[in-house]
Amino acid sequence: KNGRNQYALYHDGMGSDGKHLFQLETALRKAFDRGEFELYYQPQLDMKTKQIRAVEALIRWKHSGKGFISPGKFIPLAEESGLITPISDWIMMQACEHLKQLQLHFPYVKMSVNISPIYFQQIDFLEKLQKTIESVNVNPRSIELELTESAVMPHAEQSVARLTTLKTMGISIAIDDFGTGFSSLSYLHRFPIDVLKIDQSFIKPLSRYQEDLAIVKAIIMMAHSLQIQVVAEGVETEKQYQILEEQRCDFVQGYYVSNPLSIGELYEFLEMWNDF
Ligand code: C2E
Ligand code: CA
Ligand code: CA
Ligand code: CA
Repeated sequence: KNGRNQYALYHDGMGSDGKHLFQLETALRKAFDRGEFELYYQPQLDMKTKQIRAVEALIRWKHSGKGFISPGKFIPLAEESGLITPISDWIMMQACEHLKQLQLHFPYVKMSVNISPIYFQQIDFLEKLQKTIESVNVNPRSIELELTESAVMPHAEQSVARLTTLKTMGISIAIDDFGTGFSSLSYLHRFPIDVLKIDQSFIKPLSRYQEDLAIVKAIIMMAHSLQIQVVAEGVETEKQYQILEEQRCDFVQGYYVSNPLSIGELYEFLEMWNDF
């Protein structure tokens, strides 16, 4: 809680909170060594072509005793403890390897990977990414990186340079959870962004409240006028889908299309979708 770049010692007298965190952190480290993490993939539907344009890689921790632990819980902890670096290295490698195999059967499918702000800002981020792409020999044009506003805004100058390099490599950039940050919109045209992902919180009430429709409408119009495409996240119902179609949203992701799937389930899903 004292911020990053500081060391702290945990001991019995510190109260349960610190102790609990420390235990979780130890468990996380062990889980990583034991290979208890797995990537699941959630399909993204192109509303125009009705094809699956991409899958988003979502990490899962299958805890031997406690069952499934949500990334919303352990990613922040990994970020605090520095474990985010080896975990992110692994995510990148695993996602690229799965993409390589997927493309033998489904060459049009992109792989979208969530990038932690801490990982994005590390000095060797680009170098490591390049090495992974080369060693797996996967097409960078099939890779999309999802970054939140909080990943790019604090170091805007450096971020512009980094994102520009990613673009020259052929990688595309998506802004995740769009609408939930409080940063200036001016970054939208300063940064080379391909896709905005409208946060679920705007999609959920879409069929009930006019105000949310107004916001979604405005985001889509603004994005399109900047040549940016739009993904709606957390689409669960036919009604939401129809509204988004009327508003010319480009892509949808959510339980309405599919849950996140294991790599095996994803193959089955894509094959079925193709035959459809
Ligand atoms: P996110 O990037 O916004 O991911 C979308 C979350 O919404 C996922 O939760 C997904 O399972 C869930 N979701 C998808 N469709 C629906 C729907 O129709 N309705 C509802 N209610 N939820 C839906 P998940 O997998 O628990 O991930 C939570 C967050 O953890 C992610 O939010 C992301 O911020 C982070 N995360 C997950 N995987 C990774 C990863 O590999 N690396 C990093 N850095 N962060 C990750
Ligand atoms: Ca995401
Ligand atoms: Ca999101
Ligand atoms: Ca989120």
